[in-house]
Amino acid sequence: MQKINEIEELIKIISKLPGLGPKSAKRIVLKLVNNKDELVKPMAKALADVYKNILRCKICGVLKPSSIKCSFNNCQIVEKKYDKICVVENISDQWSIESSNIFRGYFHILGGTISSAGLKKDDLLINSLIERVKKDKIEEVILATSATVEGQTTAYYIQDSLKNIKTKITKLAQGLPVGGEIESLDDGTLYSAFKFRSDLNSSSD
Ligand SMILES: [Zn+2]
Repeated sequence: MQKINEIEELIKIISKLPGLGPKSAKRIVLKLVNNKDELVKPMAKALADVYKNILRCKICGVLKPSSIKCSFNNCQIVEKKYDKICVVENISDQWSIESSNIFRGYFHILGGTISSAGLKKDDLLINSLIERVKKDKIEEVILATSATVEGQTTAYYIQDSLKNIKTKITKLAQGLPVGGEIESLDDGTLYSAFKFRSDLNSSSD
């Protein structure tokens, strides 16, 4: 294969995307260079727009246009005020729960788990969660972290951090397959996990 720096660079970047290796990255790049006007041009613009205009909120963790200012009691663009907040690890978990229509309320995206990729407690949006629960008068915090060791450790840590705040804390039902990540669950499993969520206030001492 003839070496062209620009092409090599693009292959290198694309092969870092989830589910893609160097072989599929090469196929994608070939498709792109053969369709510069139809694909490369609009894609370059879309990427630049996302880079410029989309942010992850430093309070609640959701993706939002940078033009929208976040504050504790006005963090997410919702039609009405909610009294429930669902805590998840990643944005993909939020998307799965949203598309299954199981939950109506606010989301709080931690940005990972306590021990994943060396993340420490301070890297996750836990302090801002505590603030939101207080300021938004949240009546129920649903811990929807994965059924992995890291997910459960994180849930336990959050439960402990909220212990002095008057709010109900629940956790998704144990029916979650062990090691199950929220984003990979089907709607039925997610539905039962939400419906049969357990109340942690009554189970703790
Ligand atoms: Zn926010």
